[in-house]
Amino acid sequence: MGLQRYHLKRDFDVTPEPQGSVARSTGKLRFVVQKHAATSLHYDFRLEMDGVLKSWAIPKEPVADPAHKRLAIRTEDHPLEYASFEGDIPEDQHGGGHVDLWDEGTWIPEGSPITGYRRGHLKFELKGRRLKGSWALVRMGNAQTRKKDLWLLVKRHDDRQ
Ligand code: MN
Repeated sequence: MGLQRYHLKRDFDVTPEPQGSVARSTGKLRFVVQKHAATSLHYDFRLEMDGVLKSWAIPKEPVADPAHKRLAIRTEDHPLEYASFEGDIPEDQHGGGHVDLWDEGTWIPEGSPITGYRRGHLKFELKGRRLKGSWALVRMGNAQTRKKDLWLLVKRHDDRQ
């Protein structure tokens, strides 16, 4: 997908968000969750993959409980620089509202993350301050009758339960 959609949606003369570019991933893969008080409060879940942050908007706070799956709406790829962004997006801009870093750390994919992403089934371990252990992101059903790319963020059973 690259960053074309990310760039088209924003006016970087107005928003303090980083413009960024696709970068080569080096070392550990980062993940970040940003609490975003936009028109509706949500949590932006981002995984470093293929030189960008693959991103999902989660309407409810993630919880480390396999019984509480969270809807995760796929949003546009963000630049790696976005992982440290906090601040206020002007109200007239895309995603206008306050952004706080809610969690950050590294993630370890099980198998190839690119293949898992394409197949709509990513399994991984999170090493964050809040979110830890085994998780999965699973794409929901067939997309023909809906416009949004819907996934579920699921806590998997592990020795932390
Ligand atoms: Mn957001």
